[in-house]
Amino acid sequence: MSKFSVFVRNIQLGGGAPVRIQSMTKCPTDDIPLLLREIKTLEKAGCEIVRIAIPNHKALESIPILKTKTTMPIVADIHFDYKLAIAAIKRGVDKIRINPGNIGARWKIEEIISVAKDFNVPVRIGVNAGSLSKEILKKYGRPTPQALVFSLEEQLKIFEKKNFYNLVLSAKTTNPQETIEVYESLNEKFPYPLHLGVTESGLPLQGAVRSTSALAILLYQGIGDTIRISLTGPAVLEVIVAKELLQSLGLRVFGPQLISCPVCGRCKVNLIKIAQRVERKLQCFNSPIKVAVMGCVVNGPGEARFADYGIACGKKSGVIFKKGKVLKKCPEDELAKELIATIKADL
Ligand code: SF4
Repeated sequence: MSKFSVFVRNIQLGGGAPVRIQSMTKCPTDDIPLLLREIKTLEKAGCEIVRIAIPNHKALESIPILKTKTTMPIVADIHFDYKLAIAAIKRGVDKIRINPGNIGARWKIEEIISVAKDFNVPVRIGVNAGSLSKEILKKYGRPTPQALVFSLEEQLKIFEKKNFYNLVLSAKTTNPQETIEVYESLNEKFPYPLHLGVTESGLPLQGAVRSTSALAILLYQGIGDTIRISLTGPAVLEVIVAKELLQSLGLRVFGPQLISCPVCGRCKVNLIKIAQRVERKLQCFNSPIKVAVMGCVVNGPGEARFADYGIACGKKSGVIFKKGKVLKKCPEDELAKELIATIKADL
């Protein structure tokens, strides 16, 4: 957890605030109706900060509209053109992400700093393994963790020289082990909030595993103030994985926790179908209840009893538990419905 904190609209990052979830929209930024729909879906799923790409001046037009249509903080992602960063700030964006390495001349970065200071807008210095300068690559041979940290340190000096501290730092690579090394080093060296992520981590299943393999280790050590799981898939999945990760680590509580057995040859019901039904329906609840869906009598009753609610199945049927007590026996097809009705009646 960083010593310093910044505010992105009304959301605090660092300084003891909960680890925040962010994602990035995937539709063209200048398609405002589509962009708004994507942002609303993300917001509903639990996203707390959303980043939008600003590749050109037309994309800037979305910023004032988004500011009136959503309360979620908006971050403008800027590459190459310092004028876009300045214009995004002036149009009311809540934070900008720049990779100073591709902004160019130092004076351009200083211009951005000056405007960000005037508008009290935080800046994320987001270094990326894929865009290190030629000089740094020559010095380190490849984008090593040391090269990433060095690059970020170099950029940071420009900001600190201008007494600008409204900062969030990130240095992303595709390699989970190197991600751990980079962020442990950033955490040791700098007091600024850290944005964690494994970049370009792949399709949803592989990407979720690759991202969490690094992020879990960092978060467990108290490193990281905001996370983005970057997946080649719908942005909403990034939020779902992030929530699951934070809740699994006990860092945030978002809602019910489903425990379901992996199924084996003892199971005499279609447990996967039952668990999927229960999972879908549980999304309507916010309470941090523990719900167990178990396939047979071996571990079933035990797990179901220690959960707040549960199902333990037998042959084509099962029993519903509540706080350790059996409530009723139901046929297989009614188990999910009955379990949800039981929960609904209590909450
Ligand atoms: S609870 Fe029963 S069905 Fe499920 S994995 Fe364990 S032994 Fe197999």
